[in-house]
Amino acid sequence: LVRLRQRLSRSQSGLGKGLLALLSRDRLDEDTWEDIEDTLLTADVGVAPTQELVEKLRTRLRVEGGGSASPREVLREELVSLVDPAMDRRLGISGDDGKPGVVLVVGVNGAGKTTTVGKIGRILVAEDRRAVLGAADTFRAAAVEQLATWGERVGVPVIRGPEGSDPASVAFEAVKQGVDGSYDVVLVDTAGRLQNKAGLMDELGKVKRVIEKQAPVTEVLLVLDATTGQNGMIQARVFSEVVDVTGIVLTKLDGSAKGGIVVAVQRELGVPVKLVGLGEGPDDLAPFDPEAFVDALLG
Ligand code: GDP
Repeated sequence: LVRLRQRLSRSQSGLGKGLLALLSRDRLDEDTWEDIEDTLLTADVGVAPTQELVEKLRTRLRVEGGGSASPREVLREELVSLVDPAMDRRLGISGDDGKPGVVLVVGVNGAGKTTTVGKIGRILVAEDRRAVLGAADTFRAAAVEQLATWGERVGVPVIRGPEGSDPASVAFEAVKQGVDGSYDVVLVDTAGRLQNKAGLMDELGKVKRVIEKQAPVTEVLLVLDATTGQNGMIQARVFSEVVDVTGIVLTKLDGSAKGGIVVAVQRELGVPVKLVGLGEGPDDLAPFDPEAFVDALLG
């Protein structure tokens, strides 16, 4: 929590502090409520969730007024409820019948997929789980090299094919190694060319099909760059139409004042944010904890 707070303090905390300052005004007049709405929209919370939150705050603060709960308490409760603490945020990394869990990692280039795969590898190693990484982002030679470097760094083997090889064949090979070598988890990095939806669908569909000849995919993580705002939301929509996304990783939250995207993207896809990226280093990935997140926002 301390680290989350430090990382967010430079960027996100503006949102929480701004809201708190507005709610602490002597008179909550229409101008103030408009400022509150603007603050939420600017932070990418999205239109519907913003209206919902403002409505709840208005009702509670009007009815309870200067009553028992302080504006800070009311805001904290409503923000936590907006982030939906009841969603199951555990990673699907357990396979059945002695097979490894298989995690497919998808998202557009530059979102932070490869980095996230490396960081998850690090977490698995720390938990004494045996993991293997599949470098199925074969369209960028640099991506394969980058994953190989991550593998060395965190002590996890990386399965790769010759340059330009078929992503599905690399994914197949990685899962085969996972099954044959009795690994606990296989993480598959994929290519994120958003050239067109049909192409993406073909490619990810094929990757998924060949994997599932050997073991079920237990988690599909969509990696989104928190700094991309509405553009990120459009990407999220496209990917969710192409694969059954089961969890979201929001990267670069350290460099964005737009923490509201957590709310917007969960609403849009109906799946939880499971992990957040807080920097470029191997330890800069944290499970998403709604309460800790809101506490970090409020400073
Ligand atoms: P990919 O193309 O989706 O595989 O993206 P990469 O993993 O290559 O990441 C793109 C860039 O974003 C790299 O420079 C990463 O170091 C950086 N990056 C990834 N995650 C984070 C994060 O959580 N915070 C910050 N600040 N940078 C990140």
